[in-house]
Amino acid sequence: MAHDTTFPHLVYSTPDGGVGERRGLRALDFTGAPLDPADLIPLPDGASLSMLPQRLAVGLAEDGSRVSVSAAKGWALAALLPIGYTRTRLPAYAKTPATEPLPFFGYTAVAGWRGQLYAAAIRTDNPERWLPRAYDPRRLERLVRARLEAEPENRVLRQHAHCALDYSCPTASNIFFGRWEGAVAVSPGCNARCVGCISKQDEDDLVSPQDRLMFVPTIEEVVEVAVRHLESAPDAILSFGQGCEGEPLIQARLIERSIRAIRARTASGTLNINTNASNPRSLQRLYDAGLDSLRASTISARRETYDAYYRPIGYTFEHVKRSLILAREAGVYSSINLLCFPGLIDAEDEIAALVAFLKETGVRLVQLRNLNIDPEVLLPRIPTPAGRPLGMRVLVETLRREAPDVAIGNFSRPVKRAAPAPAAGAPEPAPLA
Ligand code: SF4
Repeated sequence: MAHDTTFPHLVYSTPDGGVGERRGLRALDFTGAPLDPADLIPLPDGASLSMLPQRLAVGLAEDGSRVSVSAAKGWALAALLPIGYTRTRLPAYAKTPATEPLPFFGYTAVAGWRGQLYAAAIRTDNPERWLPRAYDPRRLERLVRARLEAEPENRVLRQHAHCALDYSCPTASNIFFGRWEGAVAVSPGCNARCVGCISKQDEDDLVSPQDRLMFVPTIEEVVEVAVRHLESAPDAILSFGQGCEGEPLIQARLIERSIRAIRARTASGTLNINTNASNPRSLQRLYDAGLDSLRASTISARRETYDAYYRPIGYTFEHVKRSLILAREAGVYSSINLLCFPGLIDAEDEIAALVAFLKETGVRLVQLRNLNIDPEVLLPRIPTPAGRPLGMRVLVETLRREAPDVAIGNFSRPVKRAAPAPAAGAPEPAPLA
């Protein structure tokens, strides 16, 4: 990469899989704005590069004109960031008549500058435990084979062996490595139809990157995997609610009975659920059973944006808020999985609503999650937020200033609930009016 350029310049993907550059063209983002050096960091360890097929790379010339690189020379380029980094800008490109939807990944703007590649991102957590180098594929394969030979009947193990080996899923892999956050999927069904669902897509030209779980495990299968993980893994977290399943609350009874059975055998580790938090009554039962933490997924604290993305079936955003408020009352550690899409969630009114939501619900941690979706798929399906986008940096700074008690990061922590679970048979919470 050329050493001396005074501004971040255009880079693109060449037909031989390399990186081409046009030093005379300023690098742009999806909105057509030049990439600001303040928004850029050297491409982080663990990031990968992605060609954007049938999309021309486009940059800004000195005379202010937008110049595209011909398709013969290559296509637009983006970065895919490891967990621990939050994207601040989407990549620029010019569509061609053959443009088709992109696979579900978190495309990030890139540029060439000072002799190396830069990405539009901020570091928002310690990525060490999520970097590809922490997941040695050959060792993983050996561990998976040995575990499946030892426990051939356990379908949960077989499911997560598939996720670990075929999707490189960190939480599935951790079940076999016996460390950190591990996965247990339980639910084929869901009560939402997220535009960016990674396990089920209904539209013909959209392909979900993962296969949806096809069975409901038994309590025995769940407890067997969970207890071993919680008792033996350093910084053990056992999480219900994974990318390969639907909504875990659909199987709330199974999870409740599993939690009670698990806690009857071990007090170790953290029992967590990743959920759309659609059913406060079911969640209250899990809080009562001994759940330690929950992570509620959301893209917005504004109902119109939430509804457009989640397309909820039989619940509303008020149910999500109620679930979080009940978690606070029960001493259960709550976080949100905030689906991050620059230009949408950093809009003035989105930020204001998010700050109010955090104060109302008592959420303890905001986990920033780069939303894996093609902008051309998401934007036509979401109402344009009122208020101009202020930038992802401003979003993070505003949260730190306006909600100083709320931690910001990118993944769940091993935690213990603040108050012990009540004795079995405690009264149910009042239904939502
Ligand atoms: S809640 Fe999860 S499983 Fe359900 S549609 Fe959304 S992303 Fe998919």
